[in-house]
Amino acid sequence: MDHADCIFCKIVRGEIPCAKVYETDEVLAFLDIAPVAPGHALVIPKAHHVNLFDLPEALGGRLFAALAPVAAAIQAATGATGINVQMNNNAAAGQVVFHAHLHLIPRREGDGLRLWPGHPYADAAAMEAMAQAVRQAIASGR
Ligand code: AMP
Ligand code: ZN
Repeated sequence: MDHADCIFCKIVRGEIPCAKVYETDEVLAFLDIAPVAPGHALVIPKAHHVNLFDLPEALGGRLFAALAPVAAAIQAATGATGINVQMNNNAAAGQVVFHAHLHLIPRREGDGLRLWPGHPYADAAAMEAMAQAVRQAIASGR
């Protein structure tokens, strides 16, 4: 189902232009209008789903299947030697467009982009307590 006011649904319907790079019946990839680096692309389902949490499993699989060929093509076209796959889910994670999309961000050695500053757990017990909490949430279906 598409949504009248969703900017990515408008792109899918052709009401807003995009720099398309890849398309199947269910998946579209186009260049991000404000790239982290030239060649930065978005891979989206054509159907409107908000994000990871309401993406049907099979469609998620087909979205994922598009990543490797599009990422390889971006590397070939840009000379990048690596690609980050990023998905922002919900506002707290920086999601601005609420139509599911995966970012493909071309990378080069020494480009200076630091996506994941890591902070170790206080100790092994704190890490295990977190793992236990997540396992419990999975077991209870949350
Ligand atoms: P986010 O929801 O934070 O994952 O980011 C949405 C992304 O969509 C941003 O990187 C924007 O630059 C990009 N974007 C927004 N509008 C357009 C558009 N019309 N064409 C291409 N990219 C867009
Ligand atoms: Zn949409």
